[in-house]
Amino acid sequence: MAERKGKCPKCDQLISSVTVSAVHLNSWLNTRRYDGVIYTCPHCSVILGAGTDPVALAHDAVDEIVRRLRKTRSERSASIVPK
Ligand SMILES: [Zn+2]
Repeated sequence: MAERKGKCPKCDQLISSVTVSAVHLNSWLNTRRYDGVIYTCPHCSVILGAGTDPVALAHDAVDEIVRRLRKTRSERSASIVPK
């Protein structure tokens, strides 16, 4: 299968990989800062895109699942204990 390459919109170089750098994403909905990444051209460093950090997003999802499971378990235990 042939390798697909796009062109950088600024320097017109063919791009087969991008550079990923960590950034903070500031939400206008609340004061929380999220972990994000920017994707830049390896030739001229123009920003090609930005988004949430997929690794941080996975960790946050696992942490939230564990937190909810613990909460559910503690609520279940509390209902068994006689008053
Ligand atoms: Zn470029």
